[in-house]
Amino acid sequence: MEKRVSKERYLYFLQKMVCFTHSSTLDREKYVELIHEICNEYHLAKGVTEFYTTPMMEKNGEGEIFCDFDNGKAKNVLVNIKVESITKAIICGTIYIEDEVEDHDPEEVEQLNMMLSLILGFMSRRRLVRVLEEFGFYDLDGFRNYRAFARFLDIANAENRLGGMVAFHIDLHNFNMVNREIGRHNGDIVLKRYYNKLSDTIGESGIVTHLGGDKFIGIFERKEKRKVYDIFSGTPIVYDDEKNKRIIVSASAGVFMLPDPYLMNSYGDIMDKIMMAGNTAKRQAAGGIIVYDDRMKMEKEHIKRIQSSFRSGLENEEFAVYYQPKVDIETKKIIGAEALCRWIRNDMIIPPIEFIPVLEMNSDICDLDFYMLDHVCSDIRRWLDEGREVVRVSVNLSRKHLVDVDLLDHIISIIDKYKVPHEYIEMELTETTTDVLFSDLKRVVCGLSSAGIWTAVDDFGVGYSSLTLIRDIPWNVLKVDKSFVPKSHEDENSISNLMFKHVTSLAHDMGLEIVIEGVESIDQLEVLRRNNCNVAQGYFFDRPLPVKDYEMRLINQVYNI
Ligand code: C2E
Ligand code: MG
Ligand code: MG
Repeated sequence: MEKRVSKERYLYFLQKMVCFTHSSTLDREKYVELIHEICNEYHLAKGVTEFYTTPMMEKNGEGEIFCDFDNGKAKNVLVNIKVESITKAIICGTIYIEDEVEDHDPEEVEQLNMMLSLILGFMSRRRLVRVLEEFGFYDLDGFRNYRAFARFLDIANAENRLGGMVAFHIDLHNFNMVNREIGRHNGDIVLKRYYNKLSDTIGESGIVTHLGGDKFIGIFERKEKRKVYDIFSGTPIVYDDEKNKRIIVSASAGVFMLPDPYLMNSYGDIMDKIMMAGNTAKRQAAGGIIVYDDRMKMEKEHIKRIQSSFRSGLENEEFAVYYQPKVDIETKKIIGAEALCRWIRNDMIIPPIEFIPVLEMNSDICDLDFYMLDHVCSDIRRWLDEGREVVRVSVNLSRKHLVDVDLLDHIISIIDKYKVPHEYIEMELTETTTDVLFSDLKRVVCGLSSAGIWTAVDDFGVGYSSLTLIRDIPWNVLKVDKSFVPKSHEDENSISNLMFKHVTSLAHDMGLEIVIEGVESIDQLEVLRRNNCNVAQGYFFDRPLPVKDYEMRLINQVYNI
């Protein structure tokens, strides 16, 4: 039988085929041209390659199927190759012939086998690269992942393109509420469409990647800033095309403007800054866009310093109790004191504002509060033993304690360790904003009350003070914050004077003792007098005093009022 294709021709095809296997990009047009040439010369009817990522996909027919030649007359299979990789990916190649075409001789079949194997070899390599890209640089939901961000930074850094770009970290606003309102499925759609919108706006010169949940990081060119910021600030996303249902999605964004030129040493250079700015943006109730500046880095270092030296500070007794008297403005006598903490480190006095908020980031604050209570009880014990005059001392108790089911036992065990009568101790707690904490707060206050320990609601009038707080919880004392106290009694009908008058009279009628904090002037004192508020605490009388000075003050109680 005469051969359809000469040996030379076969070698020519083979050589061409090998060239394709070597190049990294496939010139599809030239490839299809070659396939057509081969199929025509070998009198083939059809050539098909199939690729399935898993056996299940093969079973369901959900693969990628390519047919680069088909004359529409295919009848019988001439060559069929099927290869299964160790990852269970399946690749198949099939060559069909027409019925009428004379049988191909074994040598021709062998040649076709060889060429089809080559095709399958380089096709599977190309697919593998794609699968690797998908596994490595996309997450399961089809979003680009952190590795894709790192790769982008690497490439842009090598090409000196990072200078002037804008990196960001965003956290979508109230996304769990969005999920609750429109359902998780629609929530997923919103997330994906928001990401697509952002990606399209940023374009090829930048990247958006998914950190997880409703958090994304990315980088874009400064000229896109306006458009990208508009998306951060709030953009409508349709989640139901048929009913045209949509929702406005906005984000808290932390942004870092890369200087120009900019050379990156590690991903951390950029990540740390966008995370810091992002955290600041998130802490602000209104969210918005926060641009990184070096003060944030200093703040982070400050937090680290406080957290790392707190334990040793506690062990070395670096925390001192200062006492600020509470004065009865009628009798001019000290009727109580508040214990306030000072950290004395390297002969410097660190005020609470610098370390309390840091200690409240975790439960360190609880250990400090127990330490303070312990030292206060120890002082009271000593005063009692020395036969001195003793007045009730209030100790601040952070909200962080509220979830501690052993709190009450712990407080009582400290007080009882020094055999201090319970009525000498008052615990100051601030109001809370969530329902869960409210019920914990109520449980703690009721528990303290039934143990005979006094309770005070601190900083009343700051933030969202609610009347429920004083109606539903059996406090002994209401401490009114300085910001709630009118500056003077003139203009008695001003809103602040009216509110002060009615809130304090309500508290009086409810049998609460009222302490006014932050009294600094004679005018404020006049306001207190006119409103029958007898107890004041403030710089007008005393600053918080070291224990020795406080002891002297108790002996020498002369107030010039
Ligand atoms: P706070 O419990 O409301 O304490 C009153 C704060 O007002 C004290 O600030 C006090 O020094 C200040 N103050 C008193 N009189 C005046 C005045 O006339 N004018 C002005 N402008 N301020 C006055 P301090 O000692 O800096 O403490 C600040 C906050 O730190 C306290 O507010 C309290 O919330 C917290 N804190 C202090 N010590 C502790 C503690 O041991 N444990 C806990 N959990 N918090 C504490
Ligand atoms: Mg207080
Ligand atoms: Mg206060």
